[in-house]
Amino acid sequence: MGSGHQVHQTQACVVGSGCAGWATALRLKQLGVDVLLVTQALRDGTSHNTGSDKQTYYKLSLAGFENDSVGEMARDLYRGGGMDGEIALCMAAGSARGFLNLCELGVPFPTDAYGQYAGYQTDHDQRRRATSAGPLTSQYMARALEKAGLASGVRVLEHLCAVELIVHEGRVCGLIAVDTDRQSEDGHGLVEIRADQVVLATGGAAYCYRDSVYPESQSGMLGLALQAGAVAANLHQWQYGLASLGFRWNVSGSYQQVIPRYVSVDAEGNAFEFLADALGEQRAMDMTFLKGYEWPFDAAKAKGSSQVDLLVHREMHEKGRTVYLDYRHNPRGWKPGGEALSDVPRQYLVSSGSVQDTPIDRLLHMNAPAVALYRDNGIDLAAQLLPIAVCAQHLNGGLMVDADWQTTLPGLYAVGECAGTFGVRRPGGSALNATQVGAQRAAEHIARQPKGEQAYSGDAAVRALAGMLDALTEGGRPIGDVAAHFRAAMSRHAAFLRDVEGMRALKNELAQMLREVNQWTCPTGRPAAWLTARDQMRTQLACVDAMLLAAQQGLPGTAMVYPRAAVPDGNHIVQTQLAVDGVVSTMREATPIPESDLWFENVWRQWRERNKQD
Ligand SMILES: Cc1cc2nc3c(=O)[nH]c(=O)nc-3n(C[C@H](O)[C@H](O)[C@H](O)COP(=O)(O)OP(=O)(O)OC[C@H]3O[C@@H](n4cnc5c(N)ncnc54)[C@H](O)[C@@H]3O)c2cc1C
Repeated sequence: MGSGHQVHQTQACVVGSGCAGWATALRLKQLGVDVLLVTQALRDGTSHNTGSDKQTYYKLSLAGFENDSVGEMARDLYRGGGMDGEIALCMAAGSARGFLNLCELGVPFPTDAYGQYAGYQTDHDQRRRATSAGPLTSQYMARALEKAGLASGVRVLEHLCAVELIVHEGRVCGLIAVDTDRQSEDGHGLVEIRADQVVLATGGAAYCYRDSVYPESQSGMLGLALQAGAVAANLHQWQYGLASLGFRWNVSGSYQQVIPRYVSVDAEGNAFEFLADALGEQRAMDMTFLKGYEWPFDAAKAKGSSQVDLLVHREMHEKGRTVYLDYRHNPRGWKPGGEALSDVPRQYLVSSGSVQDTPIDRLLHMNAPAVALYRDNGIDLAAQLLPIAVCAQHLNGGLMVDADWQTTLPGLYAVGECAGTFGVRRPGGSALNATQVGAQRAAEHIARQPKGEQAYSGDAAVRALAGMLDALTEGGRPIGDVAAHFRAAMSRHAAFLRDVEGMRALKNELAQMLREVNQWTCPTGRPAAWLTARDQMRTQLACVDAMLLAAQQGLPGTAMVYPRAAVPDGNHIVQTQLAVDGVVSTMREATPIPESDLWFENVWRQWRERNKQD
């Protein structure tokens, strides 16, 4: 192929159109930076296509007599473990600003009659910092930010899949994308974007797992940054929980509080009430109720409500059965009025007036929209069983960033879920706060940089990639099969239950596959799928390596590991980097929360200096 590919130039290029991508593009534009947003599709990804019972936004308290401060919030985030102090402080310091900006843009966060943003307590939260605009909070956020971004004149290129970074003299200076509308043409639809700074806002690495509650349209794209030399942080820290398959949705909150029947079915069609068999009738019902509040799997609750997740996994992966929630029938042992329950769940159901005869009637009474949501997606909970699994929901780790959300590769930033800003236990809702704070930090840092000439041409890199795609062998193993095999293997060996032997074998298999990269068949005219599958395996290799190191060192996490090592003291980060001949993970202490000098005159002077030059 010649060098006749399309070239675009910009000062900053943002990749991704979720809450983080749009927030960054909008801030950049407001700060006078020339910005181009590229995305696979404007409404793809997690922010636009997911939600939950009451999708939560975690922020600094802004109501009543709640005592709160930036320092307290930073400390609470830091206490979750595995998080650098600078990041915790920035997340707290930028929280109110990010939240109020969304309110100004029209996201309907509720207030009382006097304008107070009342809050509630979320998981891993000691205060009432959480708020919600309903089940679709992230969608409202993304739409509001998109509207403001388009109105402010952010340039957008859609149907571009970023596949490779262009690095010159150790600095990122652009990227290569595949135009998916032109990928079957000569030259594979490759497009070059020259930029002084690239901001990845590509979301969580959903493509790592088969059992996943990420929307189908979310894949993630971390491998391109790892391949270019960026260091990742905490790729072993994921969040998993019970979710419905087919239509992907967390079965948290009232879906559990109405106490549906858990049932597994074997290949012959025999049904088993495995929770009651394993736990006894009353405890099975009590644990089901508790799952509503304690939705994510947590190894620390393995003898409590997380037993439910463990038993679901055993039915599926050890016994080969399919697991369902049944809202048509009560679990074994149910007595009218919830009489067989222990005090707390019975009282809750009685107080809510939700003691109807069947789970579906209780759910209709307690939360009718929760039933309507499934109906709108073709599932009638009153008439059919709901298949479920323990699914990957959030990557707490990602690309390691500094206090300006710049990665270890100069010129490359990561914001939102693709940034590795969380450790072990993040308070529910802090992921959405992170999308806004990372955007502020990255945009302000970029705006302070001198404007370059975008002089470096990535022509040679584009030619090399086109040549590699031209030469892909025909008749090898189809890439889709390989990618699906590794997603299933991750769900089996490296999800909320991790076995060291299984992960070692998986790591070797992934490394071998990546060495034989060119023997995989590219679906005709679909290089973006081939390159995404390769990116998936690079990311999986890095994740499994981080998981193995964490397992060997006994680092705390929400996943359960076999065999388990002694847990060390301290607060640790696992760093992972792809190397020429494989992958390397190391462990370091998390940095402490900085003790900033807050004497106003000093802050003001430093601020003036920073904003002149950086
Ligand atoms: C079921 C579920 C419930 C959740 N509930 C909560 C909650 O209650 N509270 C909370 O705080 N968080 C929650 N989260 C997490 C939160 O929704 C996400 O972390 C957040 O929306 C991620 O936003 P983002 O902008 O970083 O990524 P996304 O919204 O996923 O956006 C990624 C963007 O990048 C694009 N993209 C990806 N790869 C490429 C590529 N190679 N080239 C071009 N474009 C690309 C995608 O198309 C998309 O536009 C939940 C997540 C799930 C799955």
